[in-house]
Amino acid sequence: MNDQTRPIALFDMQAQQALIRPELDRRIAEVLSSGRFINGPEVAELEARLAAFAGCAHAVGVSSGTDALQIAMMAEGIGRGDAVFLPAFTYTATAEVPLVLGATPIFVDVDPDSFNMDLADLERRIALVVKEGKLKPRAIVGVDLFGLPADWPAIQAIADKHGMFTLDDAAQAFGGALHGKRLGCHAQATALSFYPTKTLGCYGDGGALLTESAERAELYRSLRTHGEGGGRYEVLRTGMNGRLDTLQAAILLCKMELFEQELADRAKVAAWYGARLTGKIGLQRVPNESQSAWGLYTVRCADAEERGRIQAAFKAASIPFGVYYPKPLHHQPAYAPSHAAAFTAGAPGLPVSEALCHQVLSLPMHPYLTEGEVDRVCTALLGAL
Ligand SMILES: *Cc1c(COP(=O)(O)O)cnc(C)c1O
Repeated sequence: MNDQTRPIALFDMQAQQALIRPELDRRIAEVLSSGRFINGPEVAELEARLAAFAGCAHAVGVSSGTDALQIAMMAEGIGRGDAVFLPAFTYTATAEVPLVLGATPIFVDVDPDSFNMDLADLERRIALVVKEGKLKPRAIVGVDLFGLPADWPAIQAIADKHGMFTLDDAAQAFGGALHGKRLGCHAQATALSFYPTKTLGCYGDGGALLTESAERAELYRSLRTHGEGGGRYEVLRTGMNGRLDTLQAAILLCKMELFEQELADRAKVAAWYGARLTGKIGLQRVPNESQSAWGLYTVRCADAEERGRIQAAFKAASIPFGVYYPKPLHHQPAYAPSHAAAFTAGAPGLPVSEALCHQVLSLPMHPYLTEGEVDRVCTALLGAL
């Protein structure tokens, strides 16, 4: 089969596995023989690799991206009475964690071109929370949506004005860079996910926290192991079971060998899409100072009707696609009540997040796409406009 007939994958984990299969088998076999399934030496080895890759002082492996967010917020003591600002247009985990901890997520609208948090709207909502005086502004969780870094220097400046903590939800964006520096320490803490379809994925659940702060890193290590202190059975604080297991660390170490090349190949695929689609359909705008990790390649259709036509064309051509996300978080049944109760006079609207949910469409994106496959996707898409 050539690239004109081979089925196209939305994400392709098989092509990658074929390249590193012998090394994967060797590393997995080593863990099986050692029997050190929890806290084996591969975990520390991976943490060192991650920190070096991101140019950060500390990396702490944890059990998922969601747990990374939770551990980071637990370390700050975020809970009841605290307002945590985050975009309304993101994956559910970003909003779930503050609620689990008893805090209140405050949904912020996003920019129609970058799809990342709209900072004017962020400032407006912080001012509203301050004015109402019910909640304390405690943290900003920025999301690097689809791999594109949020405007971290600007977010940090806003946070500094109010003494707030900054947490980068980089679950979709590991490998992305801003002002020439990889994501990892643009915020006070950065959460990574190694869910299989992320830019660096394992074969199960996994995640990590990156930080420049030695105190935070030590807290994260304690919190991921039930709040353990110096001695094994000394419990200093309420923690959780949030460790990254040894097998996943061994798998990630193999995948790190390909990671730089895969990021370059994702950028190449994005450039092929850009060359065919610029001016024909809305694309996620990448500012000059940003390098996207291209976790997803998402176009913005004119409206739901146009998106429906493209989806039908893709189905007819057996081209897979995704809709991330079909509903803004403030409309989700789980979050709507808290959203409605956050402000006495009701919250300002979130029109861009609501509109994007009817417009966005994610195209196949992985490092092993060929130019011919990208052409097939673009031909189907352009034919439906
Ligand atoms: C995937 C993802 C998460 C959660 O990561 P898990 O490892 O699946 O828990 C959090 N935030 C965003 C933006 C994500 O895309």
